[in-house]
Amino acid sequence: MPVTRTEVIELLSAMVEIDSVTPWLIPDGAGEGRVAQYIADWLTAADIGAEIEIVEVEPGRPNLLARLRGTGGGPTLCVNAHADTVGYANWPAEALRPRLDGDRLYGLGSADDKAGCVAGMLAMASIAKSGVKLRGDLLLACVADEEGCSIGSQHLVEMGLDIDAAIVIEPQETDELIVEHQGFGWIDVITHGVPAHGCVPEIGVDAIVHLAEVITRMHKLDNTVFIPGASAMNGRTVFHTGTISGGTDYATYPGRAVLGIEIGTQPGEHLSDRVAEIEAIFAEVAKTEPGFKGEVRVHLDREPFQARGHERLQEILTEAMTQVLGRSPKVTGMNGWTDAALMQAAGIPTLLIGSTGGNYHAPDEWASIGELVKLCDIVERAAVGYLA
Ligand SMILES: [Zn+2]
Repeated sequence: MPVTRTEVIELLSAMVEIDSVTPWLIPDGAGEGRVAQYIADWLTAADIGAEIEIVEVEPGRPNLLARLRGTGGGPTLCVNAHADTVGYANWPAEALRPRLDGDRLYGLGSADDKAGCVAGMLAMASIAKSGVKLRGDLLLACVADEEGCSIGSQHLVEMGLDIDAAIVIEPQETDELIVEHQGFGWIDVITHGVPAHGCVPEIGVDAIVHLAEVITRMHKLDNTVFIPGASAMNGRTVFHTGTISGGTDYATYPGRAVLGIEIGTQPGEHLSDRVAEIEAIFAEVAKTEPGFKGEVRVHLDREPFQARGHERLQEILTEAMTQVLGRSPKVTGMNGWTDAALMQAAGIPTLLIGSTGGNYHAPDEWASIGELVKLCDIVERAAVGYLA
């Protein structure tokens, strides 16, 4: 029995109602405890014989793992989706109240990424109820903290479970099969000046003016290198400023200025390549700005994703997507970052799929119910194909 529209609406609505904001972004966020328990209870009530485990990653921050055991001798396929969401300060009254309007279900996390959890849950239940005998195990991982710093998927790969391949689910066009994506870094670019009384320019070195020189050149790097050199698979290399601070008061030369940026890396590149570019900018600014002193501090370094060893999974997923969608998928990349990078980095052949939605991380986030029904079907067929 294929998964129905009614099943999808009911389960996705229930999942949206559960607050699971990652405390990494919003310090008093609810965390993933309640949503993990809900998924465990739902799978238990479905009575499909899944082995369910709530694995505490940090206090109140569990991963939910559910294993549908095969008859033996087959591989293990992991379906990974994240159970956490971003915050909802911009739409507090509506975020946790799912609203159906035509094909769209509105609500926080409806697309990102509770749709992914729902696809994994319903596909697992549907496989079990269909009575098909599979040799391998289907492992559903509804992980914590993807919107934060991915402690959930990090913990999952560190458990050393014998996973042969992974399908990571994040919202995107349903006909896209993602085989790579950009990495990124969060970096502080710091200039050090010399604080001094405003009336002694012979002593004061203006850290903010120096930082301005750096920012202008980084903007130029974006315009002349990143934008024209955009990757056909993953788009232009991500770059934007995020935060800025510096100085102490009107009357004093600023001794320090700090710019926070987000910057991307294409597959084959590393964050050290971006750091080298920023350091080259420092060298250029130093030629014209006496007393210039720059520093780069890397706060977060996430390597790009590039699938490896995924040929069999891709063949099976392509067939499943073609059967469900009536056309072969578009094999592509993207400019965002997902836990697929962590799964692949752990040596697990990984591919990324999803279903259509919109307004991610913003008010009126929505998921297409029709597309999510198709995604459930794709996941079920791919799992059956891979684990047969
Ligand atoms: Zn997501």
